[in-house]
Amino acid sequence: VLDLYFMPSSAAVKKLSGAFDAFYPDGFSPKKNPEMWEPRLLKAICSHAREGATLATWCVASAVRKAFTEAGFTIQKVPGFGHKSEMTVGRFEPKFKHRRSTTFLNSAEKPQSAIVIGAGLAGSAVACELARRGVQVQVVDAGPVGASGASALRWGVVHAQPSGDDNQLFRLTRSGLEMLREELLCYPELVRTEGLYQMARDGAELQKWQQQFAQLKPFSFPKDFLRLMSAEEAESKIGLKPRLGGLWHEGAGIVAVAEWVRARLNRSGASLLFNTRVGSLSKQGKNCQAKDAFGQIIAEADAVVVCCAAETANLLPGIELPLTRWKGRLSLLCEGALTDLKGAVTGPGYAIHSPDDWIGVGATYESADKQMSSEEAHCKNLSHLTDLFSQLTEADAAGFYEGFRCVAPDRLPVVGQVPAAEGFPNATGIYVSCAMGSRGTVFNELAAKVIAAQMFNEPIPLEADLLRAIDPGRFFKKPR
Ligand SMILES: Cc1cc2nc3c(=O)[nH]c(=O)nc-3n(C[C@H](O)[C@H](O)[C@H](O)COP(=O)(O)OP(=O)(O)OC[C@H]3O[C@@H](n4cnc5c(N)ncnc54)[C@H](O)[C@@H]3O)c2cc1C
Repeated sequence: VLDLYFMPSSAAVKKLSGAFDAFYPDGFSPKKNPEMWEPRLLKAICSHAREGATLATWCVASAVRKAFTEAGFTIQKVPGFGHKSEMTVGRFEPKFKHRRSTTFLNSAEKPQSAIVIGAGLAGSAVACELARRGVQVQVVDAGPVGASGASALRWGVVHAQPSGDDNQLFRLTRSGLEMLREELLCYPELVRTEGLYQMARDGAELQKWQQQFAQLKPFSFPKDFLRLMSAEEAESKIGLKPRLGGLWHEGAGIVAVAEWVRARLNRSGASLLFNTRVGSLSKQGKNCQAKDAFGQIIAEADAVVVCCAAETANLLPGIELPLTRWKGRLSLLCEGALTDLKGAVTGPGYAIHSPDDWIGVGATYESADKQMSSEEAHCKNLSHLTDLFSQLTEADAAGFYEGFRCVAPDRLPVVGQVPAAEGFPNATGIYVSCAMGSRGTVFNELAAKVIAAQMFNEPIPLEADLLRAIDPGRFFKKPR
């Protein structure tokens, strides 16, 4: 796995997390490019070395070799190649071990087996990512088939969430989309990512976007990622003229969510156990156990990943994850209602016309204590349609798709290893992936890759501050 950081090395080093196998410092000469060879920087980079990690560099400057030695490398000067007579090689053999937060520290401790509870977008992604690393995966779900929770959605939109200040949500959704690319290539028939139009909610938002683009805020986007688009140009892309101008997300679009989840569960090769509700989790020595409501063991493994949306909190009572459920309803329109629309459009709500003529408009956001009547929900959804396309004032609804989104107070997903808490002292080997909110399509793969990297003590494919932003430990106190 190679992660590329496009930024000064002093900034990149603050964003690294996880452990690396090989170090190859190659930044011009210390005289020409002193910042790259700063002993403090080299030591900070080397603090991410996995035990036994190797080092190689053409540079033999004594200050550089001293910095590597102080960082824990045993180094040697050996014959160089090309026009260099000597080079430096080394191996990470620290006298003092760093206390790392990862659970499985060396290859002997790598998990051989894992239980994934929940077979939705989050669980199916984790099952695939762990199976790819040779883990024996058992997926357990209370529903009768894969994708029977919120992921039962037939088609959903997938895109980044831009912001002029490059906030955490934008950075996370951008990474999420990038990490999905390879995955989505496996299912060409379930994916339409030829682009997605995001209409401005009103004139003020459009003006704000125009100013941000003019001032290159937060930076200049590649045209094949995001650009401003007039309503006229949007019409040529999506087949209907939207009320306002907006943004064109190239490479974003729609996915057939439930089919994707089921195809992925099959592809993972995991063993699948449906109609089985997990009632509690416990630890027996190093093993993690999933038990039913009567305390009978359903499955036992080295690690467990809880992907049960809002029910995740019930399986981890000691850590009190503050998750809430928000009901969402999407109005399904009768065939012929939006025939001219190609693909999807978002902005104030969203509308999808899929290649198989499924038409969804919505969606509502209903709290537990403020549910709408069916009529109110449909009216709300149709008002989004009129906001998007002023020429569409009515449409017949054939029914609803409804589900429950799981949301954390800060609206970011909750992903990663569960740290020990006062009410939950032994959390070793327990991970969660939930609180995807309305963005399960863009977050699930990123979440799975983070969890697998943590389990295997690999470099985490996410910047350190973003990792902290989604960490389950952000909500509760660590034990004293
Ligand atoms: C109306 C609506 C429209 C949406 N539109 C979009 C969209 O366009 N784009 C987008 O990205 N997202 C959208 N979403 C959000 C998206 O559906 C979710 O983010 C995503 O499906 C969450 O996936 P998940 O795997 O975390 O949860 P779920 O799909 O809910 O899966 C959780 C699974 O856990 C199982 N489970 C729970 N408790 C237990 C237990 N104790 N034992 C065993 N199994 C258990 C459940 O049976 C379920 O299968 C929409 C949501 C709604 C409601």
